[in-house]
Amino acid sequence: MTIEPTIEPNTEPQQFAFKAEVQRVLSLVINSLYTNPEVFLRELVSNASDALDKARFLQLTESDAVVRTEEEPGIDLTLDAPNRLLVIEDNGVGMTRDEVVENLGTIARSGTSEFFEKFAEVSKGGDKDRALELIGQFGVGFYAVFMVAERVEVETLSLKAGEAPVVWRSAGDGSFTVAAGERTKPGTRITLHLKEDSAEFAEEWRVEHVIEKYSNFVMFPIRIGGKVANHSSALWRMPRAKVTHEQHVEFFKLISNGVAGDAPLATVHWSVDAPVQFSALMYVPEKASMNLFTSRERLGLRLYARRVLIMESCDKLLPTYLRFLCGVVDSEDVSLNVSRETLQENITVRAIEQQLTKQALKALEALAAEEPAKYLTFWKEFGVILKEGVSTDFRNKDALAKLYRFQSLRAVGGALIGLEAYLKAKPEAQKAIYFLTGTDGAQLASSPLLEAFRARDLDVLLLTDPIDEWMVNGLRTFEGCELVSVAHGELDLDAVAAPKQAAEAPADEDGVKAAVEALEKVLSDRVQGVRASRRLTETASCLVSRAGDPSANLERLMQAFDEDKVEAKKRILEVNPNHAIVRSLGLLAQRDPQSSRIQLYAEMLYDLARLSEGVVDDPAGLVRRLQDLIAESAQQAAAPFAAQKT
Ligand code: ADP
Repeated sequence: MTIEPTIEPNTEPQQFAFKAEVQRVLSLVINSLYTNPEVFLRELVSNASDALDKARFLQLTESDAVVRTEEEPGIDLTLDAPNRLLVIEDNGVGMTRDEVVENLGTIARSGTSEFFEKFAEVSKGGDKDRALELIGQFGVGFYAVFMVAERVEVETLSLKAGEAPVVWRSAGDGSFTVAAGERTKPGTRITLHLKEDSAEFAEEWRVEHVIEKYSNFVMFPIRIGGKVANHSSALWRMPRAKVTHEQHVEFFKLISNGVAGDAPLATVHWSVDAPVQFSALMYVPEKASMNLFTSRERLGLRLYARRVLIMESCDKLLPTYLRFLCGVVDSEDVSLNVSRETLQENITVRAIEQQLTKQALKALEALAAEEPAKYLTFWKEFGVILKEGVSTDFRNKDALAKLYRFQSLRAVGGALIGLEAYLKAKPEAQKAIYFLTGTDGAQLASSPLLEAFRARDLDVLLLTDPIDEWMVNGLRTFEGCELVSVAHGELDLDAVAAPKQAAEAPADEDGVKAAVEALEKVLSDRVQGVRASRRLTETASCLVSRAGDPSANLERLMQAFDEDKVEAKKRILEVNPNHAIVRSLGLLAQRDPQSSRIQLYAEMLYDLARLSEGVVDDPAGLVRRLQDLIAESAQQAAAPFAAQKT
C-alpha cells in the first residue's frame, strides 16, 4: 500500500542543535573509536533489526493503530562506490517526527553524566573494548555513523497510522535539520555520504565482511545489493547436536555484544514441551561486563514469543543471582502482550524461570565436575553474585551451596575448596563447618582465633567477600552440618580432636581467676567480659563475639554502608591461661593488687588482641605503653653495664 505524504504547512526544514551531551558523545565516540570504525555498521544493523522486531510486534498486538504491510521484513544495503554512498534501509517501525527529534537528537536514557565519567576514564586508558561496551550500554550507537560519514540523511515513515514521512539531516557538526519527507512505505532509510578515508564502506567485500563478523545471526535477512549476506537462523530452535561450537561462539558474541569474553564457559541448550513449551539457549560468560556488580544491570535473556522478540533483556526469567547469564528464551506459551509490569505475576514466565534456574545450576555443577579449571575461572568472575542465591532462593539452596568455593586454612597455595570437599576431609567427630570472616585471606589465616584448629589439623573456611556474612546467614547448614563462626562463643574442640601436642599443665587456677578479675576491672568499658580461652595456644589474648551477636567484620561492613555509625557490640576478651603475661598478671593481682603495672598489662592484652585483627584504636596510647615497657626492659638489659660505669 502507499501513503500520501502529508506536506506540512511549513515545508522549510527546521533546524535543531544537538543537545549538548550529544555533541560531547559525538566527539568522544569519533575520537575513541577511530581504530575500529566498522562498528558503525553493526549499530545501524542492530537498530534496523530492532525496528523490524518492533514492527512485527505492533502488527500482532495493535493491528488497528498501525499500517498493514505485506512485505517480508528485511534489511537492504545499497552501495555506490563511485559516489561514496552507503544506504541501509529497513521496513520496520520507522519514526514519527517527534521520535526523530527525540531519538536522534538527544540521549534519552538517564545516566548521561555517568556515561561521560566512565567514558572519559576508559578512553584515557585506551581500552577500546570497554569503550565499545559503554557505547552499547548507553545507547549512543547511532552517532557512530559520524566516524565514517561526512553527512547523513535519515528518511523515515512511522508505521503508526496517519503519520507523515520526515527527513533528518546532519553533518555531525552540532546541528541537524528535520523536514517533511517523501517516503511512502513505513520504515527507515539511512544514507551515509562517506568521508574520503572511509570510502571502503561503499565496497561490497568490505561490507560483506563486517556483516558476517557482527551480524550473522540477525533474525532478518540482510541483503547487500539484493543478495542475502547473513544466516539468520534461530539457533536455539535447532536440535542441540546440530549446533557447532563455532556457531555457539559466534552467537554468544552477538547476544553479549562482545562484552562477556571470546567464548562461553558453558552452554545450556534445550527445549521442553510441558508444562510450558519453550526453547532456551543460555551461556555462562567468560567475563563479567561492567556494572554487573555495582548495579543490577544484566545482559539478561532475550524473550521471544513465537519467534517474535518481545523483550531485549528480560529480568524476570532468571533470579538476580544468575544475572550474569545471557541467552535467548523462545516460548509458544508466552503472550505477545506481556509487559515488564505483568511479567512478575505471569505464571508461564514463572514456570520458565524455575526450569531455567534448575538447568543453569545443573550446568554449573557439571562444569565444576568435568572442567574444574574452567569452573574456577567462572567462580572467580561470578562467585560473589552466585553467593547472593542462598539467602533468596530457598528451593535451590543446596544446589547453590555445592557450587560455592572458598579459601581455607588448610587449602594450600590459595586453592579453593567446596563444602562437599570440606566435609569429606573433616574427622568423623567434627559436626560443624567452621568459618572465619574478614577482609584478607592471609591475615585471616594467621589469626590467633585459629590456633586451636591449627593445633588439631582442622580446617576452617576463610571468608573474605563482604557478601559472605549474608551468605553464611542464609545458608546456616549444609548436609546436616551447621556453619559455625570461630570468632563467636565459647569454643571447645577437645571433643572433636586432640591437639597434636598435649596442652601444658593446667595453669594455676586461682592465678587465672585473679587475672580475669583484674582485667575485667580495667577493661569494663570496652569488653563485655573476660574469660580463659580454649582457642589460644600461642597468643596471649583475642577478642570474640558473643554467640548470636554480629561479627566484628559484619559491624565494619555495616558501618561502611551506613551513614550513621552503628555502635559496635562489646565483645569478650579471651586470654590464654598458659601465657607468661597472663600468669604474671595473675600473680601480681594476687600479691600486689594496687600495682600500677596491672593497668598497664591489662591495657596491653587488649591492645594485642586488637592488633592481631589489624586495628589500633588509640595509637598514641599504645606508643606510650610500649615505650614504657621497652624502656623498662632495656634498662634491665643494660643494668649491669650501667653499674660498671659508676
Ligand atoms: P539505541 O539503539 O541503543 O537506543 P541509537 O543511538 O543507536 O541508540 O538509536 C537511538 C534510537 O533511534 C533508537 O533507540 C531507536 O528508537 C531510533 N532508531 C534508530 N535507528 C532506527 C531505525 N532504523 N528505525 C527506527 N528507529 C530507529
